[in-house]
Amino acid sequence: METVVIIGGGAAGLAAAIAAAECGDRVTVLERMDRVGKKILATGNGRCNLMNTGMRRYPGSSAWADAVLDRCGVEAQTRFWQHLGLRMRQEDGGRVYPVSGMASSVLDTLRFAAAALQVEIVTGVQVTGLFKARHGWTVMAGENKWKADRVIVAGGGCAQPKLGSDGSTWPLMTALDHRLNAPKPALTQIVTETAPIRGLSGIRIRTAVKVTRAGADVYQEAGELLFADYGVTGVCSMQCARYVQPGDLFHIDLSRAFGFESPAALRQELHRRLSAWGERSQGELLTGLCVPKLADALFRAAGMKAGEHALCKRITEDQIERLVQCAADFMLEIRGVKGFESAQVTAGGLNVQDFDPATMASLLAPGVHAAGEMLDVDGDCGGYNLMFAFGSGILAGLNGRNCPW
Ligand SMILES: Cc1cc2nc3c(=O)[nH]c(=O)nc-3n(C[C@H](O)[C@H](O)[C@H](O)COP(=O)(O)OP(=O)(O)OC[C@H]3O[C@@H](n4cnc5c(N)ncnc54)[C@H](O)[C@@H]3O)c2cc1C
Repeated sequence: METVVIIGGGAAGLAAAIAAAECGDRVTVLERMDRVGKKILATGNGRCNLMNTGMRRYPGSSAWADAVLDRCGVEAQTRFWQHLGLRMRQEDGGRVYPVSGMASSVLDTLRFAAAALQVEIVTGVQVTGLFKARHGWTVMAGENKWKADRVIVAGGGCAQPKLGSDGSTWPLMTALDHRLNAPKPALTQIVTETAPIRGLSGIRIRTAVKVTRAGADVYQEAGELLFADYGVTGVCSMQCARYVQPGDLFHIDLSRAFGFESPAALRQELHRRLSAWGERSQGELLTGLCVPKLADALFRAAGMKAGEHALCKRITEDQIERLVQCAADFMLEIRGVKGFESAQVTAGGLNVQDFDPATMASLLAPGVHAAGEMLDVDGDCGGYNLMFAFGSGILAGLNGRNCPW
């Protein structure tokens, strides 16, 4: 039996605590907030998308994430949750949720299992020091000290610090010579020029988007996009955020959002409408393809004013061409991204080459482990980040021992 202190009572820390306690360790979790798992409650819009059974999508350190999840991925985590009594349901795109549809079920499952295993949870404790002792390690929080054979640091990144993770556990690790790759917000909203999207806030479309820099493609994605007064959000644009720089261009394919396979198909439909709807007002041209505010924005982008009295038959060939082009490539200049306050995850973090993916043990400080988002691993939307946090936490807790479930 070892004495294990876990810094951070989030997804990774709680999973580590349960795994270590199941192996017979005496476990203490130190959490800076007034309760553990606050971020878990906010995940998946309160439903907690805790895993993904599809192809892995980890743009940050993907090979290393694979090395972790090959050891504790969907199968092992499913067994873990079944053992703890959490029933889950798979939805579109391999996304897995608790059957209750409530993130609180996931947190309760973890909390009650930890309590049953006599894990000591100490809240309201901001850990500020981690030092090598003659035997094992000493963890410091102000005047308070804890001795441990092993320490698992699971303090998260710095996305949404109001939920607990404020980046304050990275210095504990850099002081022990671990390398830190510059943290930056990922899965966050993109701030763009606003004139072209005036009035569109709240409009949701399914589309394909692309980011370009100086004419070269940087990243593309497809899915749901939501216009906002500052720019764009929704899964499809949030996934672009880790790749963008101010000055890049964000291209939205509205012809796809209007339900056409190609700009040519949209052109054909607009011609059909022109012939059939000649006596109708120009403002009606895009009826049935999008809401009027989006039609207005497209007319503006194409340099047209859909006057109330102007008739469709007055629209020229040249104007149709401009409408089709602007729909196929509705372009916004990127100003930047929203900061850590609204990001869902941190890209960057502790350099994974300093850790063993089988046990999450540090290669530089024997007896210290790191798990979860504080490592330089980040996944796409869809349950990938929690899956990594839980998987790496379980491996850190087990520390190479056989899985008891
Ligand atoms: C709004 C939102 C929605 C999300 N939805 C999803 C989703 O549906 N699916 C998904 O896969 N991912 C989602 N994520 C991402 C996911 O929640 C995180 O990647 C995951 O929680 C990381 O787990 P972690 O244990 O590493 O860190 P955290 O969950 O952040 O836990 C770290 C804990 O450490 C504590 N701590 C930090 N510093 C100290 C210190 N110095 N001393 C003591 N305690 C400390 C913190 O208070 C915190 O409780 C979402 C994130 C957000 C913000």
